[in-house]
Amino acid sequence: MPADGNNQPSTSKPSFFGRVLSVLIKATVLLVLLFVFDKLLPNMSQQTQSFVVTKWQQLSLLQQAPPTQNSLPSPLPNQHLTDTWGAARSQGRSHEGIDIFAPRNTPIQATTQGIVKKVGENTLGGRIVVVAGPGGAGHYYAHLEDYADIAPNDWVNKGDIIGYVGDSGNAKGTPPHVHYGIYINGSAVNPYPLLQKK
Ligand SMILES: [Zn+2]
Repeated sequence: MPADGNNQPSTSKPSFFGRVLSVLIKATVLLVLLFVFDKLLPNMSQQTQSFVVTKWQQLSLLQQAPPTQNSLPSPLPNQHLTDTWGAARSQGRSHEGIDIFAPRNTPIQATTQGIVKKVGENTLGGRIVVVAGPGGAGHYYAHLEDYADIAPNDWVNKGDIIGYVGDSGNAKGTPPHVHYGIYINGSAVNPYPLLQKK
């Protein structure tokens, strides 16, 4: 008994203290990390914070599947949809999207959640908005009369207003409409089958 009693503590004591020590070290490291984050986060510049948030949002969008058949609400939910994909356009181009007609200034709704990539102008599209959505798909809205209050890197949810129907760009003088295009892996795909029909 005395031998056992002597033996036991001599072998179990160091491992017990060893375990206590390792728990203490882990707790200390955790406390130090918490302290560092607590001091660091408020001091992180707005730019760094939004960069981190945007990267996180991009990653989560890439995890999601790109649009599938009948999965997207229309950017103009109350307007009739016609499949105008592939119709002939000037200079031998073919129509890489669909046109949805509506009275001037009708609000245009984002068809997916995503990150605003572009709010600006180009020759053909006039005033345009590009949103990067689930699966990295690009959503292109063109011929806007005006933009909503959005800027590049903003997050939008499905249904958020991104702009207003117009006839800017090469649509000047035609009945106001939104040109809606979807780009998957950089190639234009026909939005019509992907949009929900009523
Ligand atoms: Zn068009």
